[in-house]
Amino acid sequence: MTSILQTLSCADDYDPESLHVDRARQLILDLVSPVGGHERVPLRQALDRVLAADVISPIDVPAHDNSAMDGWAVRFADLAASDETAGETRLKHIGTALAGKAFAARVGPGETVRIMTGAILPQDADCVVIQEVARVEGDAVVIPPGQRRGQNTRRAGEDLQAGRPAIAAGKKLRPAEIGIIASLGIGEVTVHRRVRVALFSTGDELCSIGTPLAPGEVYDSNRYTLWGMLTRLGCDIIDMGVVKDNPAALEAAFRQAAESADAIITSGGVSVGEADFIKQLMARLGEVAFWKIAMKPGRPMAFGLIQPEAGDGGKGRGAWLFGLPGNPVAVMVTFYQFVRPALLKLAGVDPVPPFPAFPARCTEAMKKSRGRTEFQRGILFQENGEWCVRPTGAQGSGVLRSMAEADCFIVLEHERERVGAGDTVNVQLMNGLV
Ligand code: AMP
Ligand code: MG
Repeated sequence: MTSILQTLSCADDYDPESLHVDRARQLILDLVSPVGGHERVPLRQALDRVLAADVISPIDVPAHDNSAMDGWAVRFADLAASDETAGETRLKHIGTALAGKAFAARVGPGETVRIMTGAILPQDADCVVIQEVARVEGDAVVIPPGQRRGQNTRRAGEDLQAGRPAIAAGKKLRPAEIGIIASLGIGEVTVHRRVRVALFSTGDELCSIGTPLAPGEVYDSNRYTLWGMLTRLGCDIIDMGVVKDNPAALEAAFRQAAESADAIITSGGVSVGEADFIKQLMARLGEVAFWKIAMKPGRPMAFGLIQPEAGDGGKGRGAWLFGLPGNPVAVMVTFYQFVRPALLKLAGVDPVPPFPAFPARCTEAMKKSRGRTEFQRGILFQENGEWCVRPTGAQGSGVLRSMAEADCFIVLEHERERVGAGDTVNVQLMNGLV
């Protein structure tokens, strides 16, 4: 197997001391691939799961040519010339076609059938005239000029054709896809198994809920935000608690996590002061790169593969490591920017969609240094029909309140310098991301 560190260092413009956000995301995405393993699940349990095999349509949808409107099924050839100056056409009303109850006979020359939305188009009718424009006079129906061939009809197989893929493998199933699968009469689908993620927090200062804080301690919140983000993504979570900043404890935790997880997420311990002994540990347990990413917040991050037994003919599989910074906001930002797309790819999502950003007018000036990407937390609002954004108050990477108040990230791109009040910035909506 090619070494990960080798692959990384061969990539052009690879600089672990100052890695561009987009480059880091791409390097990660290029290395990870979907975890193996599929399962069959009933349709309702497939919501938010990733389809592992194409759903092939067993039928045409719609199954028959049918009416898109309530009106009159007619033969286009019967109608007077279709321009507005031509006269009206009188047709004989011979019956009714209801949805789910076809009209058995054909429509002969000079005849028309009353038809409801969704009803099968009777034989030889090729066009529907909406009821609002037709006039009924006894058993005659008067059709005005100006109709078009085929109007107000839906063709068999127009939505989906029998034998063709209706939904491709790799799709994360949303309500629309669940509905389409139901429309085919299919009650069970094959999905990728969930990605197993082990997580733990590192830090001697961390205290767990239920224990009073000693001086200098903080409650471990990262494990809870990570749990929330991973749950939203549909991962199976192995929560390993808090691990002390102690080489033996950390080594044991990494070994245990790599036994069963596809990915390991840690927080803390990758900043400059702490990285040295972790680096030595990582060199023993796998191949991990320590990155300084050109971003704020979230500069230090470790990424690689933990594979403790690879060297001595062991199981050979490994777990991807995402060593996130310790600061609570940095954890969330790096998770959304790097871990989320990687987990989507591991989960079988194909292609992994880029997360969209859209422009908004920033109502406050913001400082920004060139040469790094910044993710400020913002609040969107509308003013005179225009989308505007203002930063939440304090933007420190430890201020989790800034995430709670925000509904978007204000993305200040790598090359950008200060933002003036009224300038346009790009925002990423948290809705759909979180
Ligand atoms: P570190 O990256 O380990 O140096 O941590 C940076 C900062 O984040 C420190 O102020 C830590 O106390 C804080 N921190 C680290 N881990 C956690 C955690 N799990 N929950 C809350 N804060 C944390
Ligand atoms: Mg620490």
